[in-house]
Amino acid sequence: MKIGFLNHPRKDIIEEIEWIGKKGFDFVDLFIEEDMAVPEKIDTAKVKKTLRKYSLDAVGHTAWYLPTGSPVKSLRHAAVSEANRTFPLFSKLGVKYVTIHSKWPPGMFSAKEGISFQAESLKAIVKSARQHNLNIMLEPGDSPRDSLKNIAELLGNVPGLYFHLDIGHASLQKRKPEQFIKKFHKILRHVHLHDNHGKYDEHLPLGKGNLKIKKIIKTLKKYYDGTITIEVFSKNKKRVLQSRNKLRKHWNNS
Ligand SMILES: [Zn+2]
Repeated sequence: MKIGFLNHPRKDIIEEIEWIGKKGFDFVDLFIEEDMAVPEKIDTAKVKKTLRKYSLDAVGHTAWYLPTGSPVKSLRHAAVSEANRTFPLFSKLGVKYVTIHSKWPPGMFSAKEGISFQAESLKAIVKSARQHNLNIMLEPGDSPRDSLKNIAELLGNVPGLYFHLDIGHASLQKRKPEQFIKKFHKILRHVHLHDNHGKYDEHLPLGKGNLKIKKIIKTLKKYYDGTITIEVFSKNKKRVLQSRNKLRKHWNNS
């Protein structure tokens, strides 16, 4: 198991990677998003050098707000071309797996239509990613529509699409991460870990919400031994490091 942290996309990417490297993480979850971490503002050689300096691996992450499931066809096309725009960068940085979030249309469109809109976008994204030797993973969000049933149908509609488990999201809407682990472990390639109180997507440090982290990690370890990002959003970075220690402890005791 490898533990990583993300760059804040509105901060200087080199400084962000420096912190992650100095704190001894195994990899960077590269959030390529507005406004500081877009491909045209990134010095690829410098990022590469900084990753190498700390022997950091990298996982890719596109903006969570790309409208892949928009009812508007031209916006879906724009989502696909925005995702495609990140691929040459990820490829040069040695990334193998890239995350795309699920994105549902407004409520007057059915879940079935949402699946069909997203499947159309994701098929195109998976195809162009392959040309850069990249694999795409779907990260379900926090909405009621990110149910086990809908996500299974969406994954089933897009051959070659992998699964990214966000444990915080999979604990909302009365869902259980264990259900997602058991159903999708064969195509599970990356994990985001953070805490919440079951109602909002709070991205809290581990232990600050009411997720049964220890129990979830125990189940996860039975099926998975890959990359886990501590996706804790806290101004106090000590909380991030404490969360990492908790993950290590629970993992080793599982
Ligand atoms: Zn996440």
